[in-house]
Amino acid sequence: MTGAVHSWDLSTGVDGPGTRFVLFLSGCQLRCVYCQNPDTWSERDGAVESVDDVMSRILRYRAVFERTGGGVTISGGEPLLQPRFTAAVFRACQEAGIHTALDTSGSLGARATDDLLLDTDLVLLDIKSFLPSVYAEVTGGGSVTPTLAFAHRLAALERPTWIRFVLVPGMNEAPENVGPLADFVAGLENITRVDVLPFHTFGTAKYEAMGLPFALADRAAPTAEQAEAVRAVFRDRGLTVT
Ligand code: SF4
Repeated sequence: MTGAVHSWDLSTGVDGPGTRFVLFLSGCQLRCVYCQNPDTWSERDGAVESVDDVMSRILRYRAVFERTGGGVTISGGEPLLQPRFTAAVFRACQEAGIHTALDTSGSLGARATDDLLLDTDLVLLDIKSFLPSVYAEVTGGGSVTPTLAFAHRLAALERPTWIRFVLVPGMNEAPENVGPLADFVAGLENITRVDVLPFHTFGTAKYEAMGLPFALADRAAPTAEQAEAVRAVFRDRGLTVT
């Protein structure tokens, strides 16, 4: 079993508990205006790696995972473009006793088998907007419907899930967008945390190198007050917000 791998990195903080080995897979069907990794969009640009290759790299960090309560996060790109590879890596992680997290937009959630989801200890579900028109604007034409269906499925399977919402002032912070999203999330019993993440421009150089326009190049980042106002909407529903 092989997959198209963009890169990997170690991180602490937003990619799951403890220190994470984050595996970035190549390929994404969305085109989010704030995407920091346009270099992961094409599956063809990934290096073909086997599950054994990936696992031998992961296993070097086993002591770090044990010391920090960390594990492996598969991100992208969109991991569910390669559901069989993702499932095989997670199965191998579970056999090695390593915690697993799946970072996904959920838009291809129907491609994830129940076995894959049962091998996923934590889902990082990016719900990029709630109103369909705003979701399409943020994602370059995507539909929110499959993501919401995936969220219900994760709840039914009792998979612990963190919701991630990237805040773009002037695009998705309006109360009529955030309020119904917070209501939806609060209705799911498997949500253990909500991250409201201000968009940033760290990926600008990648767009320039690829000769692509970065849609948010001239947009001001959210102020602390704007981010706090959105966090308060989720917190008011009793959700744990960071
Ligand atoms: S889903 Fe993620 S990788 Fe894909 S375009 Fe959006 S931000 Fe980028």
